[in-house]
Amino acid sequence: MESHEFPVEEDVTSVKGSVSREEYDRLQVLCDQKDQEIERMKTEFLSVASHQFRTPLTSMNWYLEMLLSDEGAVLQERERGYVEEVYATSRRMVGLVNDLLNVSRLETGNLELEPMPAQLETFLQTLVDEARPIADQAGATLAYAPPADPLPMVAIDKGMVRQVFSNLLTNAIKYSSSAGAQGKIDVSITQEGDEVIAAIQDNGIGIPEEAKPSIFSKFYRAENAIHAATDGSGLGLYIAHMVVTELGGRIWYESEVGTGTTFFVAFPCTSSSV
Ligand code: ADP
Repeated sequence: MESHEFPVEEDVTSVKGSVSREEYDRLQVLCDQKDQEIERMKTEFLSVASHQFRTPLTSMNWYLEMLLSDEGAVLQERERGYVEEVYATSRRMVGLVNDLLNVSRLETGNLELEPMPAQLETFLQTLVDEARPIADQAGATLAYAPPADPLPMVAIDKGMVRQVFSNLLTNAIKYSSSAGAQGKIDVSITQEGDEVIAAIQDNGIGIPEEAKPSIFSKFYRAENAIHAATDGSGLGLYIAHMVVTELGGRIWYESEVGTGTTFFVAFPCTSSSV
């Protein structure tokens, strides 16, 4: 077979004209393969690194929990404050590592979603209750308006959908309670046509128009969000979008800067009544 050695460049158009059409096409294929290989290696690195981080972090958290527990009541008040701070930071790191792991699993197709029939309004009630301490701590109000009558069932993977709503609720609290603002979050759920739609509305900083094309992209954070809350990875919405669409649902938002944001999550009904 004829062999040619070409430098593999990111953009092969730079050699267009100096090589034959056939050679150009071959070079293009080579570049695409190289890109795929780099992408695969990046995902693999992410997965290995996240796994390596998780074990020591879990053990750190365990010892911190012991220190803070009643049996470990050896701490002075000031020390307890410091340890609580370390514990909160370490838990945030566990969250980040779990997000990274989920990203690599979703991207490599190694995260099997297991959709099961569920009553979304009851599930959402639990998740709102779980988020309440975070809202209280931030001084925000968090209200949930369950529907008067039961809604049709939807098919969801509870583990992953829990993460989706937890992220949306945490964001709503985080981006409405910064800079001393009083956050107000209203959660509701309705049936529209053949979909059950959950809405999480906040009165926060809003999402700028220019952020719209990138908001569900990996690691993306809007400029105003970076100023309002330094803490954030830009992974939550990326994961949420992947999970919801994988389950046959939709996720979108309406927002106005300085007024607030509403995120909507819709899942197709699996039954017309319960
Ligand atoms: P993170 O919150 O960790 O930055 P996410 O992926 O959850 O990452 O969100 C991506 C970006 O979307 C945020 O950085 C912010 O710019 C924007 N965003 C998400 N939710 C809200 C919200 N409720 N209000 C304003 N901006 C939001």
